Amino acid sequence: MNMQHLEEVKSLLSTPKDIVITSHRNPDGDAMGSSLGLQLYLEQLGHSTKVAFPSEYPDFVGWMKGSERILIHDADTQEVNTALETADIIFILDYNGLDRVDKMGEVIAAQKNTTKVMIDHHLYPSNCADFMFSDPTASSTCEMIYEFIVGLGDMKMISIALGECLYAGILTDTGSFKYSTSSKLFKVVGDLKALGVDDVKLQNLLFNSLPEKSLRLLGHCLNNRMEILDEYNTGMIVLTKKDYEDFDIQRGDTEGIVNYLLMMKKVKLAAFISEQPTIVKISLRSKGDFSVQEIAQKHFRGGGHKNASGGASFRGLKATLKKFREILPEYKEQLTGIKSVVVSDDTDS
Ligand code: 5GP
Ligand code: MN
Repeated sequence: MNMQHLEEVKSLLSTPKDIVITSHRNPDGDAMGSSLGLQLYLEQLGHSTKVAFPSEYPDFVGWMKGSERILIHDADTQEVNTALETADIIFILDYNGLDRVDKMGEVIAAQKNTTKVMIDHHLYPSNCADFMFSDPTASSTCEMIYEFIVGLGDMKMISIALGECLYAGILTDTGSFKYSTSSKLFKVVGDLKALGVDDVKLQNLLFNSLPEKSLRLLGHCLNNRMEILDEYNTGMIVLTKKDYEDFDIQRGDTEGIVNYLLMMKKVKLAAFISEQPTIVKISLRSKGDFSVQEIAQKHFRGGGHKNASGGASFRGLKATLKKFREILPEYKEQLTGIKSVVVSDDTDS
């Protein structure tokens, strides 16, 4: 972490402040864990804090300490806007640009005199904060929050509840240590375990708490909605609006399904494409050196990480699927080692 920035932030935090901690739409384990973990820390320092997300968080992270106090911009619009307008400091956690938080981003951008601190691990951050702690080599924002607190000399303030938030975000963003790992990360989780964080309890809370319908949905996805494009070492799962109704799919219910495609040896690129009320959401995953960040950014107005990215299309499901198939030849050589002659540079509009 940038020591100069840490020193300056430390001095800012030396007197009580009104602080709003924000994270991205459809908050995941890392967004929740980093936000609530940072809140637990800042409150011990005597600051007044609020956590605000653009949209609601999924049930599987609802056990985290402080989750009941979270403000949701979609529902608590005025309260969130007022908090942002009166804040001394706004934290930008687990997202790399204000376009990732929709209308909340416009309000944040309008606070010209408010100090903004970004802590994030996505590729290509936009320069929207006074203090940018950006580390795309970090497994998760939670890992960075741990470093941030330790860097400020406050490791002793990491309680078990705080450690649980951070460990949970690390577990979800690394797929339980399957990707984005480093020796530093294992030192961090070693420290958290030594503090008393119960990792087995967290595994059960996060991954062994599904309702029956989620496993039935998974079975449906794998049996009826999966297509393997052998020519491109690519796997796809496509869900329609009707699937959402038939399986009563709620926020977070499809989390992680895309990863099943990567369990096949031949699959290098995995796509989960779902028809939402107004957009088609695309979740991309890859193995090895193949970067899905480029596909998400170039073709689906999105971004993320090398091996996990996402985006959206506004063209409807049928046209989006056609487009996805059309861009694959561009990546055939990278995916299979076999050259392809067709090139498409189509961008969604
Ligand atoms: P997921 O596929 O789980 O929704 O997201 C995977 C990764 O891609 C996450 O790091 C997430 O932040 C990023 N991502 C997902 N959707 C979008 C999007 O619409 N825009 C951008 N810039 N990033 C996205
Ligand atoms: Mn993250």
